[in-house]
Amino acid sequence: MPRFRQQILLIAGAVALVFAAPRSLAQNAGNDTPPVIDVHVHAMDEEFPGAAPMCPNTAKFLASDPRQPEASFGWVQEDCTPKLYPSAKGEYIKDVIAEMERLNVTAVVFGDPKSVQKWRDAAPKRVIPGTGFQAGFPPNARVPLDELRKDFTEGGFKVMGEIGLQYEGLSPSDPSVDKYFTLAEQLDIPVAIHMGTGGSGRANIAMPDFRGSKGDPLLLEDLLARHRKLRVQVMHAGYPMIDNMLTLLQANSHVYVDVAGLIWSYPIKEVNRYIERLVDAGFEDRVMFGTDQLIWPKLMTYSISIIQNADYLTPEQKRDILYNNAARFLRLDTHPVK
Ligand SMILES: [Zn+2]
Repeated sequence: MPRFRQQILLIAGAVALVFAAPRSLAQNAGNDTPPVIDVHVHAMDEEFPGAAPMCPNTAKFLASDPRQPEASFGWVQEDCTPKLYPSAKGEYIKDVIAEMERLNVTAVVFGDPKSVQKWRDAAPKRVIPGTGFQAGFPPNARVPLDELRKDFTEGGFKVMGEIGLQYEGLSPSDPSVDKYFTLAEQLDIPVAIHMGTGGSGRANIAMPDFRGSKGDPLLLEDLLARHRKLRVQVMHAGYPMIDNMLTLLQANSHVYVDVAGLIWSYPIKEVNRYIERLVDAGFEDRVMFGTDQLIWPKLMTYSISIIQNADYLTPEQKRDILYNNAARFLRLDTHPVK
Protein backbone atom coordinates (compact mmCIF):
# COMPACT_ATOMS: atom_id res chain seq x y z
CA MET A 1 0.00 0.00 0.00
CA PRO A 2 1.27 3.44 -0.81
CA ARG A 3 2.31 6.36 1.30
CA PHE A 4 -1.19 7.73 1.60
CA ARG A 5 -3.22 5.85 4.04
CA GLN A 6 -6.53 5.41 2.41
CA GLN A 7 -5.53 2.02 1.19
CA ILE A 8 -5.76 0.33 4.46
CA LEU A 9 -8.46 -1.22 2.53
CA LEU A 10 -6.86 -4.56 1.98
CA ILE A 11 -8.65 -5.36 5.14
CA ALA A 12 -11.63 -7.55 5.41
CA GLY A 13 -13.28 -10.44 6.97
CA ALA A 14 -12.50 -14.07 6.52
CA VAL A 15 -11.13 -17.36 7.30
CA ALA A 16 -9.71 -19.81 9.61
CA LEU A 17 -6.45 -21.20 8.61
CA VAL A 18 -4.29 -20.86 11.60
CA PHE A 19 -1.00 -22.64 11.50
CA ALA A 20 0.94 -23.59 14.55
CA ALA A 21 4.09 -21.51 14.69
CA PRO A 22 7.12 -23.69 14.14
CA ARG A 23 9.20 -24.41 17.21
CA SER A 24 11.99 -22.05 16.21
CA LEU A 25 9.54 -19.19 15.86
CA ALA A 26 7.85 -19.94 19.12
CA GLN A 27 10.98 -19.34 21.11
CA ASN A 28 11.73 -16.01 22.66
CA ALA A 29 15.45 -15.99 22.05
CA GLY A 30 16.07 -13.70 19.09
CA ASN A 31 19.64 -14.98 18.75
CA ASP A 32 18.66 -18.62 18.24
CA THR A 33 15.93 -17.81 15.78
CA PRO A 34 17.05 -17.67 12.15
CA PRO A 35 16.74 -14.11 10.84
CA VAL A 36 13.82 -13.01 8.71
CA ILE A 37 13.48 -9.93 6.52
CA ASP A 38 10.00 -8.54 6.00
CA VAL A 39 10.34 -6.29 2.94
CA HIS A 40 6.88 -4.74 3.17
CA VAL A 41 5.74 -3.09 6.40
CA HIS A 42 3.77 0.14 6.77
CA ALA A 43 4.67 2.82 9.32
CA MET A 44 1.36 2.88 11.11
CA ASP A 45 1.34 4.20 14.63
CA GLU A 46 -2.19 3.94 15.92
CA GLU A 47 -5.07 1.64 15.76
CA PHE A 48 -6.59 2.34 12.38
CA PRO A 49 -10.08 3.86 12.59
CA GLY A 50 -12.61 1.13 12.17
CA ALA A 51 -9.97 -1.56 12.48
CA ALA A 52 -11.48 -4.86 13.40
CA PRO A 53 -10.28 -8.36 14.17
CA MET A 54 -9.40 -10.17 10.97
CA CYS A 55 -9.56 -13.71 9.67
CA PRO A 56 -6.75 -14.16 7.13
CA ASN A 57 -6.90 -16.15 3.90
CA THR A 58 -10.56 -15.55 3.26
CA ALA A 59 -12.20 -18.35 1.31
CA LYS A 60 -14.14 -16.40 -1.30
CA PHE A 61 -15.41 -13.10 -2.64
CA LEU A 62 -19.10 -12.34 -2.69
CA ALA A 63 -21.18 -10.68 -5.37
CA SER A 64 -23.27 -7.67 -4.48
CA ASP A 65 -26.19 -5.85 -6.07
CA PRO A 66 -26.08 -2.07 -6.70
CA ARG A 67 -29.82 -1.90 -5.98
CA GLN A 68 -29.09 -2.68 -2.34
CA PRO A 69 -26.80 -1.12 0.27
CA GLU A 70 -23.39 -2.62 -0.43
CA ALA A 71 -20.44 -3.16 1.87
CA SER A 72 -17.24 -1.63 0.55
CA PHE A 73 -15.55 -5.03 0.64
CA GLY A 74 -16.63 -8.28 -0.85
CA TRP A 75 -14.77 -10.79 1.27
CA VAL A 76 -16.99 -13.47 2.67
CA GLN A 77 -17.62 -13.03 6.37
CA GLU A 78 -16.50 -16.14 8.18
CA ASP A 79 -15.46 -16.77 11.70
CA CYS A 80 -12.09 -18.10 12.77
CA THR A 81 -10.21 -18.95 15.93
CA PRO A 82 -8.08 -17.19 16.82
CA LYS A 83 -8.65 -14.02 14.88
CA LEU A 84 -5.86 -11.52 14.37
CA TYR A 85 -6.58 -8.57 16.66
CA PRO A 86 -5.57 -4.91 16.38
CA SER A 87 -3.48 -3.43 19.18
CA ALA A 88 -4.88 -1.33 21.96
CA LYS A 89 -4.75 2.39 21.30
CA GLY A 90 -1.18 3.68 21.28
CA GLU A 91 0.35 0.21 21.59
CA TYR A 92 0.76 -0.79 17.96
CA ILE A 93 4.42 0.08 17.27
CA LYS A 94 5.48 -1.44 20.58
CA ASP A 95 3.52 -4.61 19.87
CA VAL A 96 4.94 -5.09 16.37
CA ILE A 97 8.49 -4.42 17.50
CA ALA A 98 8.10 -6.98 20.28
CA GLU A 99 7.04 -9.47 17.61
CA MET A 100 10.02 -8.48 15.46
CA GLU A 101 12.37 -9.10 18.39
CA ARG A 102 10.76 -12.43 19.20
CA LEU A 103 10.80 -13.60 15.57
CA ASN A 104 14.20 -12.01 14.75
CA VAL A 105 12.70 -9.88 11.98
CA THR A 106 14.27 -6.90 10.27
CA ALA A 107 11.73 -4.94 8.25
CA VAL A 108 11.63 -2.41 5.46
CA VAL A 109 9.16 0.11 6.88
CA PHE A 110 7.48 2.40 4.36
CA GLY A 111 5.74 5.69 4.97
CA ASP A 112 6.17 9.44 5.05
CA PRO A 113 9.49 10.36 6.69
CA LYS A 114 7.90 11.50 9.96
CA SER A 115 5.93 8.29 10.43
CA VAL A 116 8.94 6.13 9.55
CA GLN A 117 11.08 8.07 12.03
CA LYS A 118 8.91 6.84 14.90
CA TRP A 119 9.74 3.28 13.91
CA ARG A 120 13.43 4.06 13.48
CA ASP A 121 13.50 5.59 16.95
CA ALA A 122 11.72 2.60 18.43
CA ALA A 123 13.91 -0.07 16.81
CA PRO A 124 16.93 1.43 15.04
CA LYS A 125 18.58 -1.94 14.35
CA ARG A 126 15.48 -3.63 12.99
CA VAL A 127 14.08 -0.95 10.71
CA ILE A 128 15.23 -0.30 7.13
CA PRO A 129 13.51 2.95 6.18
CA GLY A 130 11.58 3.39 2.93
CA THR A 131 9.66 6.33 1.52
CA GLY A 132 7.98 7.16 -1.77
CA PHE A 133 6.84 10.05 -3.92
CA GLN A 134 3.09 9.93 -3.37
CA ALA A 135 2.34 12.71 -0.94
CA GLY A 136 -1.11 11.94 0.37
CA PHE A 137 -3.70 14.64 0.05
CA PRO A 138 -4.98 15.92 -2.25
CA PRO A 139 -5.03 12.59 -4.06
CA ASN A 140 -2.27 12.14 -6.64
CA ALA A 141 -0.05 14.79 -4.99
CA ARG A 142 3.70 14.29 -5.35
CA VAL A 143 6.67 14.83 -3.08
CA PRO A 144 9.01 17.41 -4.66
CA LEU A 145 11.97 15.68 -6.32
CA ASP A 146 14.58 17.57 -4.29
CA GLU A 147 12.87 16.71 -1.06
CA LEU A 148 12.87 13.03 -1.97
CA ARG A 149 16.51 13.20 -3.02
CA LYS A 150 17.37 14.54 0.43
CA ASP A 151 15.47 11.70 2.08
CA PHE A 152 17.89 9.29 0.40
CA THR A 153 21.12 11.30 0.42
CA GLU A 154 20.80 12.81 3.90
CA GLY A 155 17.85 11.15 5.61
CA GLY A 156 19.15 7.59 5.50
CA PHE A 157 16.26 6.13 3.52
CA LYS A 158 17.16 2.94 1.67
CA VAL A 159 14.20 1.98 -0.53
CA MET A 160 11.85 4.11 -2.66
CA GLY A 161 8.32 2.94 -1.99
CA GLU A 162 5.61 2.05 -1.64
CA ILE A 163 4.79 3.33 -5.09
CA GLY A 164 1.06 2.75 -5.61
CA LEU A 165 0.34 4.24 -9.00
CA GLN A 166 -2.21 1.54 -9.67
CA TYR A 167 -4.48 3.17 -7.09
CA GLU A 168 -4.39 6.29 -9.24
CA GLY A 169 -5.12 4.32 -12.41
CA LEU A 170 -1.58 4.99 -13.65
CA SER A 171 1.00 2.68 -15.20
CA PRO A 172 4.42 2.54 -13.50
CA SER A 173 5.86 3.48 -16.89
CA ASP A 174 3.83 6.71 -17.00
CA PRO A 175 6.16 9.54 -18.14
CA SER A 176 4.82 11.88 -15.44
CA VAL A 177 6.68 9.96 -12.72
CA ASP A 178 9.79 8.99 -14.65
CA LYS A 179 11.96 11.60 -12.95
CA TYR A 180 11.56 9.74 -9.66
CA PHE A 181 12.79 6.51 -11.17
CA THR A 182 15.67 8.39 -12.80
CA LEU A 183 16.59 9.59 -9.32
CA ALA A 184 16.42 6.07 -7.89
CA GLU A 185 18.64 4.72 -10.66
CA GLN A 186 21.14 7.55 -10.19
CA LEU A 187 21.31 7.02 -6.44
CA ASP A 188 21.25 3.23 -6.81
CA ILE A 189 18.20 3.00 -4.54
CA PRO A 190 15.87 0.03 -5.12
CA VAL A 191 12.23 0.86 -5.86
CA ALA A 192 9.20 -0.99 -4.51
CA ILE A 193 6.13 -0.79 -6.71
CA HIS A 194 2.64 -2.04 -5.90
CA MET A 195 1.55 -4.33 -8.74
CA GLY A 196 -1.44 -6.60 -8.62
CA THR A 197 -3.63 -7.00 -5.57
CA GLY A 198 -5.45 -4.16 -3.88
CA GLY A 199 -8.77 -3.64 -5.54
CA SER A 200 -9.81 -6.76 -3.81
CA GLY A 201 -13.48 -7.07 -3.25
CA ARG A 202 -15.16 -3.89 -4.37
CA ALA A 203 -12.94 -1.53 -6.33
CA ASN A 204 -16.16 -0.27 -7.91
CA ILE A 205 -17.31 1.07 -4.53
CA ALA A 206 -14.23 1.69 -2.43
CA MET A 207 -11.53 2.76 -4.90
CA PRO A 208 -12.93 4.28 -8.09
CA ASP A 209 -9.49 5.13 -9.56
CA PHE A 210 -8.00 1.68 -8.95
CA ARG A 211 -7.42 -0.32 -12.11
CA GLY A 212 -6.63 -4.02 -11.96
CA SER A 213 -5.09 -3.74 -15.42
CA LYS A 214 -2.48 -1.24 -14.14
CA GLY A 215 -1.07 -3.99 -11.95
CA ASP A 216 0.02 -6.02 -14.96
CA PRO A 217 3.72 -6.77 -14.36
CA LEU A 218 4.46 -6.26 -18.05
CA LEU A 219 3.61 -2.56 -17.63
CA LEU A 220 7.02 -2.34 -15.96
CA GLU A 221 8.80 -3.23 -19.20
CA ASP A 222 9.04 0.29 -20.62
CA LEU A 223 10.25 1.63 -17.27
CA LEU A 224 12.91 -1.08 -17.07
CA ALA A 225 13.97 -0.42 -20.65
CA ARG A 226 14.49 3.25 -19.81
CA HIS A 227 16.34 2.45 -16.58
CA ARG A 228 18.46 -0.58 -17.20
CA LYS A 229 20.15 -0.59 -13.81
CA LEU A 230 17.02 0.02 -11.76
CA ARG A 231 16.40 -2.62 -9.10
CA VAL A 232 12.68 -3.30 -8.75
CA GLN A 233 10.68 -5.02 -6.03
CA VAL A 234 7.32 -5.97 -7.52
CA MET A 235 5.11 -5.74 -4.46
CA HIS A 236 2.43 -8.41 -4.17
CA ALA A 237 4.20 -10.32 -6.97
CA GLY A 238 1.82 -9.04 -9.62
CA TYR A 239 -0.87 -11.33 -8.22
CA PRO A 240 -2.76 -12.94 -9.91
CA MET A 241 -1.02 -12.36 -13.26
CA ILE A 242 1.49 -15.16 -12.91
CA ASP A 243 2.28 -15.66 -16.59
CA ASN A 244 3.14 -12.02 -17.11
CA MET A 245 5.05 -11.96 -13.84
CA LEU A 246 7.20 -14.88 -14.99
CA THR A 247 7.71 -13.21 -18.36
CA LEU A 248 9.03 -10.09 -16.63
CA LEU A 249 11.28 -12.07 -14.27
CA GLN A 250 12.74 -13.98 -17.19
CA ALA A 251 13.43 -10.86 -19.20
CA ASN A 252 14.77 -8.72 -16.35
CA SER A 253 17.26 -10.05 -13.86
CA HIS A 254 17.09 -6.99 -11.59
CA VAL A 255 13.47 -7.70 -10.75
CA TYR A 256 12.40 -9.36 -7.49
CA VAL A 257 8.92 -9.95 -6.09
CA ASP A 258 7.42 -9.82 -2.62
CA VAL A 259 4.52 -11.97 -1.50
CA ALA A 260 3.15 -9.39 0.94
CA GLY A 261 -0.59 -8.94 1.23
CA LEU A 262 -1.40 -11.79 -1.07
CA ILE A 263 0.03 -14.29 1.41
CA TRP A 264 -2.80 -13.68 3.90
CA SER A 265 -5.60 -12.11 1.91
CA TYR A 266 -6.49 -14.76 -0.65
CA PRO A 267 -7.59 -18.39 -0.35
CA ILE A 268 -4.68 -20.39 1.04
CA LYS A 269 -4.63 -23.00 -1.72
CA GLU A 270 -4.35 -20.22 -4.29
CA VAL A 271 -1.60 -18.46 -2.31
CA ASN A 272 0.49 -21.61 -2.14
CA ARG A 273 -0.09 -22.37 -5.80
CA TYR A 274 1.11 -18.87 -6.76
CA ILE A 275 4.30 -19.06 -4.68
CA GLU A 276 4.97 -22.58 -5.88
CA ARG A 277 4.61 -21.47 -9.48
CA LEU A 278 7.19 -18.69 -8.99
CA VAL A 279 9.61 -21.17 -7.45
CA ASP A 280 8.95 -23.99 -9.92
CA ALA A 281 9.60 -21.59 -12.79
CA GLY A 282 13.12 -21.15 -11.46
CA PHE A 283 12.87 -17.88 -9.54
CA GLU A 284 13.48 -19.10 -6.03
CA ASP A 285 16.21 -16.50 -5.59
CA ARG A 286 13.87 -13.61 -6.46
CA VAL A 287 10.95 -14.26 -4.12
CA MET A 288 11.02 -12.18 -0.92
CA PHE A 289 8.91 -12.54 2.19
CA GLY A 290 6.69 -9.63 3.20
CA THR A 291 3.54 -9.04 5.18
CA ASP A 292 2.04 -5.67 4.22
CA GLN A 293 1.89 -5.28 8.01
CA LEU A 294 -0.81 -2.70 8.76
CA ILE A 295 -2.83 -3.19 11.91
CA TRP A 296 -2.56 -6.63 13.45
CA PRO A 297 0.74 -7.39 15.25
CA LYS A 298 0.30 -11.16 14.95
CA LEU A 299 0.13 -10.95 11.17
CA MET A 300 3.90 -11.35 11.01
CA THR A 301 4.08 -14.69 12.79
CA TYR A 302 1.02 -15.87 10.90
CA SER A 303 2.54 -14.99 7.51
CA ILE A 304 5.94 -16.50 8.34
CA SER A 305 4.18 -19.73 9.24
CA ILE A 306 2.72 -19.99 5.76
CA ILE A 307 6.24 -20.13 4.31
CA GLN A 308 7.48 -22.41 7.09
CA ASN A 309 4.60 -24.81 6.51
CA ALA A 310 4.86 -24.88 2.72
CA ASP A 311 5.48 -28.54 1.92
CA TYR A 312 6.49 -27.68 -1.65
CA LEU A 313 9.53 -25.66 -0.48
CA THR A 314 12.85 -27.13 0.60
CA PRO A 315 14.44 -25.83 3.82
CA GLU A 316 16.92 -23.90 1.65
CA GLN A 317 14.15 -22.32 -0.38
CA LYS A 318 12.38 -21.27 2.81
CA ARG A 319 15.55 -19.59 4.10
CA ASP A 320 16.03 -17.87 0.74
CA ILE A 321 12.47 -16.52 0.72
CA LEU A 322 12.49 -15.54 4.40
CA TYR A 323 15.92 -13.92 4.39
CA ASN A 324 18.65 -14.51 1.82
CA ASN A 325 16.91 -13.10 -1.24
CA ALA A 326 16.00 -9.84 0.48
CA ALA A 327 19.49 -9.52 1.97
CA ARG A 328 20.89 -9.77 -1.56
CA PHE A 329 18.31 -7.39 -3.06
CA LEU A 330 18.88 -4.80 -0.33
CA ARG A 331 22.65 -5.42 -0.39
CA LEU A 332 22.77 -5.97 3.33
CA ASP A 333 26.22 -6.74 4.58
CA THR A 334 25.47 -10.25 5.77
CA HIS A 335 26.30 -13.83 4.97
CA PRO A 336 23.69 -16.22 3.61
CA VAL A 337 21.83 -18.05 6.35
CA LYS A 338 21.15 -21.77 6.03
ZN1 LIG B 1 0.64 -2.63 -1.80
